[in-house]
Amino acid sequence: MIADYQIRQLQAVVGEGNILTALEERWCYAFDATDHTQVPAAVVFPGSAAEISQILRLANRYGFPVTPRGAGTGRSGGAVPAPGGVVLVLTRLNRILEISIEDMVAVVEPGVITGRLKAAVEEQGLYYPPDPSSADFCTIGGNVAECAGGPVAVQYGVTRDYVLGLQLVIPTGEIIDTGARTMKGVVGYDLTRLIIGSEGTLGVVTRIILRLAPKPPARQTLAVGFPDLEMAARAVSLILRAGLAPTALEFMDRTTLDCVREMLPFEMPLELAALLLIAVDGHPHDVEERTASIARFCREQGAGLVIQARTPVEAQGLWKARSVISPALRQVRPQKISEDVVVPLSAIPRLVAALQEVSRRRNLPIASYGHAGDGNIHVSVLYDRKVPQEREAAHRAVEDIFSLVRHLAGTLSGEHGVGLTKAPYLEMELSRDAIALQQRLKRAFDPNNIMNPGKIFPPSAP
Ligand SMILES: Cc1cc2nc3c(=O)[nH]c(=O)nc-3n(C[C@H](O)[C@H](O)[C@H](O)COP(=O)(O)OP(=O)(O)OC[C@H]3O[C@@H](n4cnc5c(N)ncnc54)[C@H](O)[C@@H]3O)c2cc1C
Repeated sequence: MIADYQIRQLQAVVGEGNILTALEERWCYAFDATDHTQVPAAVVFPGSAAEISQILRLANRYGFPVTPRGAGTGRSGGAVPAPGGVVLVLTRLNRILEISIEDMVAVVEPGVITGRLKAAVEEQGLYYPPDPSSADFCTIGGNVAECAGGPVAVQYGVTRDYVLGLQLVIPTGEIIDTGARTMKGVVGYDLTRLIIGSEGTLGVVTRIILRLAPKPPARQTLAVGFPDLEMAARAVSLILRAGLAPTALEFMDRTTLDCVREMLPFEMPLELAALLLIAVDGHPHDVEERTASIARFCREQGAGLVIQARTPVEAQGLWKARSVISPALRQVRPQKISEDVVVPLSAIPRLVAALQEVSRRRNLPIASYGHAGDGNIHVSVLYDRKVPQEREAAHRAVEDIFSLVRHLAGTLSGEHGVGLTKAPYLEMELSRDAIALQQRLKRAFDPNNIMNPGKIFPPSAP
């Protein structure tokens, strides 16, 4: 626990109005989008990198843990406070410092909401592609720390592919810059890439230089229904292999579809077992041609329904339904464990078939949906915490799913990170030597282990 005199020192750094110590206020920062909770000892809202540096120096002096936090929408428990620790909320650092049309670069603070940045950039005729479904409420800092992805990653890649450089306060308090404002740069180790996806365990990101793309002149959206789940999954890899180059290729199984059916801007026949949402970006003529080719190809693959959005409003309706899947699944059961596994493209049909088998074996509904175009399937195990057999079965189902994914040469997480929820499973993917090397890196950055401890590494690890 933090002593009163330490709280007073934190107050002196950030100002009295920028620290919360009352229990009911601290509770508001005890969780993220998982079911994990831990009430922090204090919540601070720093206003600059210099203040963060002073806070981290205090943490080293007194040994209290610090957990950075953006909007708390993370899905692996990364922003859940370490016991007895301080939550460092980055929302005051929310300025878009620069959008340079000439250099096609934006410089932002970490607390900027992703959707706000995307809109500001588009006003200038440019495009910041990463589009997590949480874009309207998550922060760019959180996106960097988790290497967030989204539907258009199939064509444009993920957050990592747009970060040119960072300002970082390292756990011992020094403020460093990584990378450069240029499109290329190989001077020294690539610390930028090391920090991206490091889940707030190696420092606090305080400024981000982002590469921008030209705004695509046209986009079309297709909704394609299949009578059979595996047929839809097979179509995904066939579309990609056929060189039809979709921008986004999203998948929903029947459980998912049933939860968002009412929101879709058209009637979806009940006999369809899976839906693909496909976007195509580019120049208008090319987009028309590719969209028509994809529609034809899907019909040849057995699609029972192919609808092209006629207006931007219809297209938005389709993508809106996609973005609310996660909360909508609570209609099936009050609790869910959300995993975001990735398998090689050829293994998607085997994965979706095997997930149905796990659902039958564990007697629990399992919904699968998500970014099928890059093999990243969101798997939600749905259960009721008040039913002890369901609670136990849900955790067994997660183990089954991870074993299955490793068997298919996949990875446990494509974009949500390890955090607290997947730390116990790390050894299913990384060798002991690989984990030990990563722990040595962590110690080099953070000798006193004050920076978001308890995340990524298995609880049993030294
Ligand atoms: C409905 C919903 C849909 C989602 N859809 C997607 C999706 O399509 N794609 C996707 O990738 N994710 C998705 N997510 C997950 C989540 O939105 C992302 O992981 C997002 O990047 C988290 O941002 P945040 O600001 O909420 O970060 P937080 O949850 O606050 O923090 C996440 C991690 O980042 C660290 N962190 C935050 N800010 C900093 C900083 N400035 N410096 C260092 N570390 C920091 C925290 O310590 C923590 O470990 C979704 C979540 C929800 C609830």
